[in-house]
Amino acid sequence: MTDFSGRVALVTGGASGIGRATAERLSRDGAAVIVVDINSDALDAVVSSLPGDAIGVVADIGARDGVDQYMARGVERFGRIDHFHLNAGIGGSVGTLMHDVTLDEFDRVMSVNVRGTFLGAQCALRHLASARTPGSVVITSSVAGLLGSERLAAYNASKHAVLGIMRTAAVQGGPDGIRVNSVVPGIIETALMPSMLAATSNAPEENPLLRAIPLGRAGKPEEIANLVAFLLSDEASFITGAAVVIDGGASAENPMRAAGPRKHWEPEA
Ligand code: NAD
Repeated sequence: MTDFSGRVALVTGGASGIGRATAERLSRDGAAVIVVDINSDALDAVVSSLPGDAIGVVADIGARDGVDQYMARGVERFGRIDHFHLNAGIGGSVGTLMHDVTLDEFDRVMSVNVRGTFLGAQCALRHLASARTPGSVVITSSVAGLLGSERLAAYNASKHAVLGIMRTAAVQGGPDGIRVNSVVPGIIETALMPSMLAATSNAPEENPLLRAIPLGRAGKPEEIANLVAFLLSDEASFITGAAVVIDGGASAENPMRAAGPRKHWEPEA
């Protein structure tokens, strides 16, 4: 348990998956929570299920007025915001080679994942610079923000970019005591993932995506929420500018081996 009693936290993309799990975790740990999402029905269901004080704000995080609106509604209701989980994101099309990605598709992914995160970080820094409590921000990146993949070009570019936003915000915020970090998830069981998992195989032991994970399974949203809560909390008081990988060990393995990737380097191979 982390202690967020008396604190106010804002979570974007909080109606589903990782954001929902963070909203639930922070609410259980005592925070008042502002849950932001573009999906109003799912948002209402999450907000009404939280154990603590909470409001939902329907907003597009990629639009200036959406960000202004969630900040204004949060401050109007709770007086201030201490912690931000800038998490909302979209995957874009999966399986398209880089030269086939349309500019519309590229702009769509960038406008949510990069512009939305940039606008959120700007507002968070401005707001927290005048705060009395130690403010903190966590931005959701991805292992796709550290490594390339053949058929995820726009998403890969966007998740690399958010790490740049995180590091810049950490450097700028440090002198004001504002900490900014990223979680870097691997494969997590959320609405974003089924298409990728389904595209491979139904049997977990035969699924190449899951076989590439040393722990042998996808992660759960709650496991990411645990890390987000820690990074947002005062327990992480000397951690800023960090990109913390949480992927069941998937990116720990060097794929450049004589006989190929994981499980293909048996002595007889
Ligand atoms: P999800 O689809 O379950 O949740 C994303 C939420 O963001 C949804 O509720 C959606 O309505 C909301 N959203 C989308 N566009 C929005 C917009 N313009 N404005 C406001 N809300 C918007 O997916 P998730 O897996 O929980 O994804 C959360 C974050 O985690 C994303 O940034 C994603 O890139 C990242 N991530 C996910 C995985 C994974 O395997 N699931 C891995 C690495 C990183």
